[in-house]
Amino acid sequence: MDCSRTMINDRLHINRLFSPLASNPFFSFSDKRPFRPSSLKFQTQFPFNPSHIQVDTNTRREAVVATTYREALEFADINWDSLGFGLVPTDYMFMMKCSQDGKFSKGELQRYGNIELSPSSGVLNYGQGLFEGLKAYRKEDGSILLFRPEENALRMRMGAERMCMPAPSVEQFVDAVKLIVMANKRWVPPQGKGSLYIRPLLMGSGAVLGLAPAPEYTFLIYVSPVGNYFKEGLAPINLVVENEFHRATPGGTGGVKTIGNYASVLKAQTAAKAKGYSDVLYLDSVHKRYLEEVSSCNVFVVKDKIISTPAIKGTILPGITRKSIIDVACSKGYQVEERQISVEELLDADEVFCTGTAVVVSPVGSITYLGKRVSYGDKGVGVVSENLYSALTSLQMGLTEDKMGWTVELN
Ligand SMILES: *Cc1c(COP(=O)(O)O)cnc(C)c1O
Repeated sequence: MDCSRTMINDRLHINRLFSPLASNPFFSFSDKRPFRPSSLKFQTQFPFNPSHIQVDTNTRREAVVATTYREALEFADINWDSLGFGLVPTDYMFMMKCSQDGKFSKGELQRYGNIELSPSSGVLNYGQGLFEGLKAYRKEDGSILLFRPEENALRMRMGAERMCMPAPSVEQFVDAVKLIVMANKRWVPPQGKGSLYIRPLLMGSGAVLGLAPAPEYTFLIYVSPVGNYFKEGLAPINLVVENEFHRATPGGTGGVKTIGNYASVLKAQTAAKAKGYSDVLYLDSVHKRYLEEVSSCNVFVVKDKIISTPAIKGTILPGITRKSIIDVACSKGYQVEERQISVEELLDADEVFCTGTAVVVSPVGSITYLGKRVSYGDKGVGVVSENLYSALTSLQMGLTEDKMGWTVELN
């Protein structure tokens, strides 16, 4: 990317985009890197021939420059058609700290980049950390929609309670999400090309040596434009039921989005991918018989138009997409059951699909259990999955009226 243009953009970002938010008492802006005077940047980027500038052309020049900037600002200079689910660094991240009093104070925007951590921080030594994930979509009119951000805030608070961490209030969380999205607005993909994935982190950043909660915590948010999560896109994925490893145990932390739950599924996931599967489907660790979920998404089974999903009992992550799909399905007249689902039920299911912020609704084409493969939907996408996918995504993208009151619009 052209460096001088980025710097020009910086200044405009701050002036045009942050001014309404900059007055928010929670936040301040800091950029530890020096800014060059904007006039210098101008000249390197848009050399004007001084002989062309007459007394009253100053305003015109400003107008021309402003238009050029606005266009440059509208969208980042990347190929929007090639987005997958990988990190694309953006302009800013958000940081907010909390010391022993348990209250998060003033947060700030910083240039996206590496952070400093004590080698003895709680997160590095004892895994005291949580993450969240949500998305912002661009509407046709250019405004931006968040989907149920307060649900992510509440889930982070629940997880923080389990991991002995203080957490931002719902208001602090949601305000910080709005701020970081507006600061990185040019990275929100054009409608239909994907979304801006928002990744809040909460971590024990203070130093500890003996096992104990950290004395200081950091709440950080970074973002990345994303396309499809699975390389298959909307094509059905192939899962394998994991028979040896488990993701969660009763009394453990499977129900919260703590970072340690994810490193521990890599071994099974890597082995599954090496055999050509997209991901792993986990069974409960007590009976080794009931469906739980996939590494990072929830699972649904459809039989005779009845939609079932494993009930939440501490070992399954309470997905916001899962909850939303249940409500959307009910509103469309489907019968939905949250219950124990045995692995044998996969044998005669009509459709299986996964849900999560990253995948939205992902149809499952086949599941392999103990070497036996069951296929669904004859390579196509099942009607129920298709129906729910389009209902949810058109709501998230602002293509249908949001009767649920789930979306938050940013301008
Ligand atoms: C994040 C996550 C989900 C999906 O939750 P959403 O709120 O729908 O994104 C499901 N399972 C696991 C294990 C997760 O980490």
